[in-house]
Amino acid sequence: MAALRIGIVGAGIGGLAAANALHRGGHDVTVFEQSQRFLRVGADINLTPNAVRALDGLGEGIAQAVRASAARPTHRISRTWDTGEETSRLPMGDQAERQYGAPQLTIHRADLLAALAEAFPAQRVRFATRAQLIEPQAGGVAVRFADDSEATQLDVLVGADGIHSVVRSAMFGAERPRFTGVVAFRAVVPTERVKHLPDIAAFTKWWGPNPESQIVTFPLNQGRDTFIFATTAQDSWHEESWTTPGSVDELRGFYAGFHPDARALLDACDTVLKTALYERDPLPHWAQGPLVLLGDACHPMMPFMAQGAGTAIEDAVVLSRCLAGLASAAEVPAALRRYEAMRRERASQIQVGSRGNNWLRAGGNADWVYGYDAWGVPLPAAA
Ligand code: FAD
Repeated sequence: MAALRIGIVGAGIGGLAAANALHRGGHDVTVFEQSQRFLRVGADINLTPNAVRALDGLGEGIAQAVRASAARPTHRISRTWDTGEETSRLPMGDQAERQYGAPQLTIHRADLLAALAEAFPAQRVRFATRAQLIEPQAGGVAVRFADDSEATQLDVLVGADGIHSVVRSAMFGAERPRFTGVVAFRAVVPTERVKHLPDIAAFTKWWGPNPESQIVTFPLNQGRDTFIFATTAQDSWHEESWTTPGSVDELRGFYAGFHPDARALLDACDTVLKTALYERDPLPHWAQGPLVLLGDACHPMMPFMAQGAGTAIEDAVVLSRCLAGLASAAEVPAALRRYEAMRRERASQIQVGSRGNNWLRAGGNADWVYGYDAWGVPLPAAA
């Protein structure tokens, strides 16, 4: 079967989801990743039903591997930081599965990457290839890498290279992401230590006294561990990292006025990781000729709606649907504009909505986010 030659820059969640979706569609896909190998960094990813439904369509192997290591929170609960008053409680698990076609799952980031990587031919991932220069060619595009190697005559180049995307810079000019003035702490504790706390099998968000301040907790590693994610305003810390340690004392200090049940979570932490949070404004265009963006390369967002990875997976699915059955480079630009038309409004709305940190604070209808079906949503007519 004739197929497109597709290069994907970046083997993160978005890049590997796209690699699987496009490979299943019969295209000739190669992924270029700057790292030497997959690293077990980060900790959690909270996958809401829309993200799980999109992942499930990538194949039985991925769906099973994700469920084998994920936890399945019972509810999504909001509490007030000092009184502990419950302001909303949404059933997730079985009810979400009935309502949205998939449950909420919480999984170690590395386990999700491993599930995606194992389903894709290993020889089609080229590690230690850092894309540096994107050059148009007659009827296609070429990428040059930091080691002077290159990939040429690609029909499509997908920029899935994260918030500092070089593909994005090649398309629209270089522009640095913006520091939000907010930092995030992440810790994992054995559930045994905190199992006396209420609703430890649920996703619980403690809403702080100001919009940047929150503590989120949910089960990880099939419930053996409990993940703690806390954010606060802090202008003086600018380092963006998945691996830099923070101070447990500093963490506890920020939340000293919180309810005893919230403080008990922080008391259980031995170590914590710290990162500054960056974002960008929505882009007016996502595609240009044979170049196209997805995930954080396109719409990096604050983590308050837990949709960064989810929307990256949705992008991957819709991109594969727009390129399905195509075999000629001449058809690519219109197909990529169709993808942009399909995805831009939703992702931008979530990107901007994530800034406010108000999502489901006092209940409300989650359907427009959780009920989206990337595999079934009607595509706009081809141009
Ligand atoms: P990335 O994960 O950034 O992957 C990009 C890949 O490209 C990397 O492997 C990188 O090495 C590679 N790369 C970069 N440049 C080059 C180059 N020049 N050449 C070759 N390779 C390159 N989202 C959720 O859905 N749920 C959550 O609970 C959640 N929690 C979060 C918590 C925090 C603290 C943060 C910061 C984010 C969170 N997110 C969450 C967002 C989520 O992590 C991101 O949106 C998601 O990882 C984006 O995936 P991506 O594949 O687009 O980009």
